[in-house]
Amino acid sequence: MILKDRVALITGGARGIGRDMALLFAQEGSDIAICDVNQEALDATKKEIEALGRRAEGFIVDVTNLAQVEDMINKILDKFQKIDILVNNAGITRDSLIVRMSEKDFDSVIAVNLKGTFNCTKSVSKVMMKQRYGKIISIASIIGIIGNAGQANYAASKAGIIALTKSVAKELASRNVNVNAIAPGFIETDMTAKLADDVKSQMLTLIPLNRFGKAIDVAKAALFLASDTSSYITGQVIQVDGGMVM
Ligand code: NDP
Repeated sequence: MILKDRVALITGGARGIGRDMALLFAQEGSDIAICDVNQEALDATKKEIEALGRRAEGFIVDVTNLAQVEDMINKILDKFQKIDILVNNAGITRDSLIVRMSEKDFDSVIAVNLKGTFNCTKSVSKVMMKQRYGKIISIASIIGIIGNAGQANYAASKAGIIALTKSVAKELASRNVNVNAIAPGFIETDMTAKLADDVKSQMLTLIPLNRFGKAIDVAKAALFLASDTSSYITGQVIQVDGGMVM
């Protein structure tokens, strides 16, 4: 077990990619805190983690709210005494072309994806600096590298996550805290299920490995970055995209 007795916090951990990460980390020996905005999904995932024999805690927390995030961090420390791993995974899309994109849709995507990552990274950094140990992993997207028509808000938020990752990696390296990002390509989750079939077929032609990714594919990359196998890697963006962007 490569995460034996670690404590991991995974945001947006109730569903999709976050849920698969929570279960994989638990299988590898980590206790898990997850936060989400969906109580039913949160409770279900918490039970699944506990069934794997690990301690779990679920928090209804909106990552855009710094006070809620800080309160959660204090509660995790009360229960688990440390936080070894943070995965900034919570994310949303509100797609439309720039001329039609509302200010609200721009602001909400930046708030959840980028400011949420800032809030959690800032709060956990203090803890990890004191511990002289930590792994921060933020889920960006290949869209943050290449852009995408109809996703100016999402692309900007994910590019921001990449820049934030590199900056914080430089700040925390001397305290033995590794800070990296993962840029998934097209992963089959509820987020992508709503895309039209013709859009999906078109996308498949762009993927050399000729299949869409699964949540577990991203979870395995996160496991590598969360473990000491990757202890000499920081400030990097690992693409999990079937070769879509190279
Ligand atoms: P899902 O929508 O399946 O899961 C995201 C989770 O985050 C949901 O449980 C959601 O809650 C939760 N969430 C949303 N807003 C907040 C908030 N303000 N505070 C806390 N939790 C919140 O998405 P995926 O699993 O597909 O995506 C996970 C991450 O991976 C995202 O950052 C996404 O941008 C990124 N990604 C996904 C790709 C894909 O192809 N699927 C590709 C590239 C990147 P709720 O149940 O209310 O929705």
